[in-house]
Amino acid sequence: MNLSAELDRWLPAPTRELLTRIGYCAAQKGYRACLVGGAVRDLLLGESSLDLDIVIEGDALDIARSFGTSGNPAPVLHERFGTATLTSGSFRVDLATARKESYHSPGALPSVHPGSIEEDLLRRDFTINAMAIRLGTERHGELVDPYGGRGDLQHGLLRVLHEASFKDDATRILRGVRYEQRLGFAFEKSSLELLARGLLYVRSISGDRLRHEIEHMLAEREPEHMLRRLDTLGVLAAIDESLSFGPGQFEAFRHAKANQLSAVRLESVLWCVLGWGLDKERLASVATRLNLPGRLLGPMQDSFALRVFEADLDRPGLRPSDVVGLLCDKSIVSLSAAELLYGHPLARSRVSLYLTHLRHIRPALDGRILRELGFVEGPAIGSALARLRVARLNGEVGSREQEVEMAQRILAGGPGTDS
Ligand code: ATP
Repeated sequence: MNLSAELDRWLPAPTRELLTRIGYCAAQKGYRACLVGGAVRDLLLGESSLDLDIVIEGDALDIARSFGTSGNPAPVLHERFGTATLTSGSFRVDLATARKESYHSPGALPSVHPGSIEEDLLRRDFTINAMAIRLGTERHGELVDPYGGRGDLQHGLLRVLHEASFKDDATRILRGVRYEQRLGFAFEKSSLELLARGLLYVRSISGDRLRHEIEHMLAEREPEHMLRRLDTLGVLAAIDESLSFGPGQFEAFRHAKANQLSAVRLESVLWCVLGWGLDKERLASVATRLNLPGRLLGPMQDSFALRVFEADLDRPGLRPSDVVGLLCDKSIVSLSAAELLYGHPLARSRVSLYLTHLRHIRPALDGRILRELGFVEGPAIGSALARLRVARLNGEVGSREQEVEMAQRILAGGPGTDS
C-alpha cells in the first residue's frame, strides 16, 4: 500500500519536502528513513499529527549532521540520546536511529542496540503505533506494516505486539487506556487479559513515569473517561490502593473543563479533583508514589481541609466574614475544585461567592490614611484594617465616610462596630 497521497493531503508542502529530502539524504549514505508511530496512525485515520517521528535504519546523528550542511535547516542534535530535532512551521520532526530493545527486569530501562525498522516497530506499544512509511527513493510512501496495525486500526482494536509487553513496561497500560478512550477503540481480547495480568507490574514503574502518563491524560479532550476507565480496570488501585475516580469526580472534571481556565490551572484543578477523597495519610502516600511536585501537592492538601469545611460552610446564618475566615488561606485552585465537588448547595454557593466576590473586598482606607487619622505605626493599624474589612464584608460599613467614622471610634478606644 502506498500513502503518498495521504502525505500530500495532510502535510503542508514544505514539511513534505523536508521529509523527502531526509529520505534522499539517508539513501545517499546507504541508510533508509521512515516516518513512524503516531503520525502514521493519525494519517491512516485521516488526521494530521504535529509530531513527526522519523526512524533511520543506519545512524540518525550522521544524517542530521550532513543534512544541516547541505542547505537544509540545521537540526538540533541531542548527542547523548543519539537523536536530532528539526522544526518545520508548527511541525516538529524528530530523528532517531532504528533500534531493538531487550528488557532485563519489568519497568527497567531496556538495553538498546541498532536494529532494522521491523525490530524498531516490534518494541512499540500497540500494533496501531507500529507502522512506518518509507521516505525518499522510489519506495517513497510505502506502508511498512509487519504486525497488522492497519487491520487493527480499521477494526478499532488495541493489540500489544507480544505477551510480555505490559510486563516489560506497564506504562503501556495507561497509554492503551488513553488511546482506547480517545479513539473510541477497544482492547483486543487477549491484550485485555494481558492487561489484567500486567497490573501487577504497575508497581515496577517509577512515580515520575506514572505521573507523566496521568499528565498526558489530563491534557486530552476527555480525561474524565480515561480516569474512569483506569478506575474500573483497577489501574488506579494498582498505582495506590486509595486512589479512585467515581461518578462525582467524573462530573466535576466535565464541569471544570467548561470553566475556561488556563491549561495550567485546569491541570491543577483536575489533580485536586483526583485527590479529593483522600485523607491526609493517603494523600501523603499518593504524593510519594507519584512524586507529586509542591505546586500540585499544596492545593491538594488545601482540598483535604476544604472537604472538612463543607459542613461548616453549610451552616445557615454564616456571615460573609466567617466565610472569608474559613477560605482566605486556601489556594484558588483548591477552591475551584471544592466548588465543583461540594454536594451541599449552600456550601457550594458560598465558595462561589468567595471566589467571585468576597475575596476581592477590601476596606477603602489603608495604612497611610489610618496614620493620617492619628493611628500610631504598629500592630494597631493591622488590627484596625482587619476590623474594617470584616465590617465591609458584612455590610456594616458601606462607604469611605462610614469607614472613617468607624476608624475614629476604634482610635478612641470604642468598640468600632459589632464584629
Ligand atoms: P500521541 O498522539 O498520544 O502523542 P504518539 O503515538 O505520537 O501519540 P508518543 O508518546 O509521542 O505517542 O510516542 C511516539 C511513539 O513511540 C508511539 O507511537 C509508540 O510507537 C512509541 N512509544 C511511546 N511510548 C512507548 C512505550 N512506553 N512503549 C512502547 N512504545 C512506545
